[in-house]
Amino acid sequence: MPMHINRRLVLAGLTLPAIVRAQAASAHVVVVGGGFGGATAARYLRLRAPGVRVTLVEPEPRFFTCPFSNLYLAGLRTWDSLGHGYDGLRAAGVEVIHARAEDVNASARTLRLSTGQQLRWDRLVLSPGVDMRWDALEGYDEAAARRAPHAWKAGAQTRLLRQQLEAMPDGGSFVMVIPDDPFRCPPGPYERAAMVAHYFKQHKPAAKILLLDAKDNFSKKGLFQQGWKALYGDMIEWVGLSDDGRVLRVDADALEVETAFGTRHKAAVLNVIPPQKAGFITGRAGVADASGWVPVKAESFESRQVAGIYVLGDATIAAPMPKSGFAANTQGKVAAAAIAADLTGRERPAASYANTCYSLVGQDYGISVAGVYRAQDGKLVEAPGAGGVSPMDGAAAFRAAEARYGAAWYAAISADIWGG
Ligand SMILES: Cc1cc2nc3c(=O)[nH]c(=O)nc-3n(C[C@H](O)[C@H](O)[C@H](O)COP(=O)(O)OP(=O)(O)OC[C@H]3O[C@@H](n4cnc5c(N)ncnc54)[C@H](O)[C@@H]3O)c2cc1C
Repeated sequence: MPMHINRRLVLAGLTLPAIVRAQAASAHVVVVGGGFGGATAARYLRLRAPGVRVTLVEPEPRFFTCPFSNLYLAGLRTWDSLGHGYDGLRAAGVEVIHARAEDVNASARTLRLSTGQQLRWDRLVLSPGVDMRWDALEGYDEAAARRAPHAWKAGAQTRLLRQQLEAMPDGGSFVMVIPDDPFRCPPGPYERAAMVAHYFKQHKPAAKILLLDAKDNFSKKGLFQQGWKALYGDMIEWVGLSDDGRVLRVDADALEVETAFGTRHKAAVLNVIPPQKAGFITGRAGVADASGWVPVKAESFESRQVAGIYVLGDATIAAPMPKSGFAANTQGKVAAAAIAADLTGRERPAASYANTCYSLVGQDYGISVAGVYRAQDGKLVEAPGAGGVSPMDGAAAFRAAEARYGAAWYAAISADIWGG
């Protein structure tokens, strides 16, 4: 704080904690994105610093989660059960504006909304999730996605994919195109394969599933392959990079894809998950680097490029943490604690992060991977001995228990973030 301000305030009889309290009382934190990271940060800012004004900017009146959207494809969850409104956050004192953030002026500390409104902020939190890289796969753009959905953002795309699966004739083939790392939810495509197989087994037992993957390894690979075999026999075929799994071209009208070695595959239902990048607002804020993702400080998730802007969740470069809802939730809590501490003159607590990704392979067959992370020498590192994966050859009761833990996790994190 400059000397002249300091002296004036001291003369006015204000001590340092009082100054900080006064700052906190007038401080405004704006959060962009009411998903896993943003809604968590908004709620926990209000909890940690009730004097701070918190505004959440999110275009949609209800947030539909990608977690458990594969279960919706399987017919194991209703669409409505995936939706969460913002009344719980309003009740916690968060001001919610349903609009899209269009532009950031980092030096003036303002955010422009789609409504034309300008919000001034003292700290800005961005958790916009991912955007698709429409230029990455030849022939796959927004128009093609209406014929061959990605369903990698929960909403109209997910419902379209479900309708296509329902309309598909028995004996047809469901083809999924899977990108290389990094992408949203590393185990997600393989859980989706299992959940589509669950649906086929009951309704289209002669159908086939072909997974064309741009990599040779994936999250919980051995566990997924064991579960697929046990529950669905030969219904699911996975083709990795070395076996010509990488797709380069998509013909959405013909529902055909072409691989790097020129092999063509025809689908009855085509699900293309393209490569991704951080949501566009990170580019407007100047926080994304040449990779398309956002470098952040490990101890707070503040941008490494622009002070005062914090970025959470899928948009960030946070490896070894995966791009998961659970990870975004713990990042939101750490960032909220760091911002609240700065604004109220308290010391920042040490940063600690966690993640568990449950995947459902069958109705009573769950598997998981877990990790604990901390900031060390400016980097995120995995705490040794704290994480792990489900055992191979686990007993049926163990798999059933993990399926129940997954459902309990979904209920708990939804309540934690949106209040239900
Ligand atoms: C099929 C599938 C299954 C998954 N399963 C799991 C799982 O079981 N467990 C798990 O932990 N994770 C899972 N995930 C991953 C999880 O969905 C993401 O990691 C998580 O949503 C990331 O949180 P986020 O806050 O970064 O983004 P999101 O949760 O996507 O939230 C982003 C929000 O920002 C809003 N937004 C974007 N741009 C703007 C803007 N300019 N202005 C205002 N608002 C904006 C969007 O409308 C959205 O509401 C799954 C993902 C998929 C695709």
